Amino acid sequence: MTSRTVAAPGSATLVTPLAAKPTPDAASLARVRRHPPSSNALLAWYEPRRHAYPWRRRPTPYRVLVSEVMLQQTQAARVVPAFERFVASFPSVRSLAAAPAADVLRVWDGLGYNRRALALSHAAREIAVRHGGRVPRDAAALRSLPGVGPYTADAVAAIAFGEPVVAADVNVLRVTARAILGSDPSEVSRADVARAAAEWLNGSDPSAWNQALMDLGREVCRPAPRCGICPIAATCGFVRAGAPRAAGRRRAQPPFQGSMRQVRGAVVGALRRRPSMSVRALSHETGHPEDRVREAVRAMRREGLVAVRGRSVRLPN
Ligand code: SF4
Repeated sequence: MTSRTVAAPGSATLVTPLAAKPTPDAASLARVRRHPPSSNALLAWYEPRRHAYPWRRRPTPYRVLVSEVMLQQTQAARVVPAFERFVASFPSVRSLAAAPAADVLRVWDGLGYNRRALALSHAAREIAVRHGGRVPRDAAALRSLPGVGPYTADAVAAIAFGEPVVAADVNVLRVTARAILGSDPSEVSRADVARAAAEWLNGSDPSAWNQALMDLGREVCRPAPRCGICPIAATCGFVRAGAPRAAGRRRAQPPFQGSMRQVRGAVVGALRRRPSMSVRALSHETGHPEDRVREAVRAMRREGLVAVRGRSVRLPN
């Protein structure tokens, strides 16, 4: 029998059978699949958000690509000032391609996950050389760019070029699994959810549709769903299945404090301020032990995030 893990108050983790979940009304769910939640209601909810972010106000392929890479692991509110700063420094693919990677990493300051900046810099160089400086429209060409996985490629294709594809990130998959399949995404196969998302896609405006789903998943249909303010609650399969009461557990994030990610971020931060430093000086500057800094530098050197000559560590060109 399939089971799920739950934590009981004041006890260790327990395993209970899935039968504890309210049984979906099969006929009702079949109806949801035949008549999915109204895309009009979702698009009407999205309408005032069409211009909520700078990349939406002028969605050129380059700006959409930059924003999607930034949004991969950072909240939209934090991305806004970083995005404005970035496109002011590098307003086009060609300007980004021509910039030393060290400059790109400096302008990336405040966003974290610095490998994204390096990948974006490499992607711009590839676009300049292989695609004449124009972000490619073709999904396969997009996916071949450094740092551009299937999700980012589909997001750029849909948002920048209006291609009828679904950018299936974790938020979009969660909304689709719940609204169409009446289940939490952990209870259904990814392939089934992706198929349901493709069927549900409103092809008249793929850009708005994808961004509406992303917003809904981020702000309303969160791991703990806020069905009371959801624009599609009246026709949502998850609501019909009686499941929202059972949802809402979040996986704990690994702690940032003391992590290698923290050490790496501190090293890149120090190198943004000075042209080069030794491992010892980096340790002194960042407050992290020398052996941890050395380990971080070794890993980042392999990834091309820092360059090392003799004892001197610096950002790459
Ligand atoms: S009604 Fe609830 S479960 Fe359904 S899409 Fe909205 S927030 Fe998610």
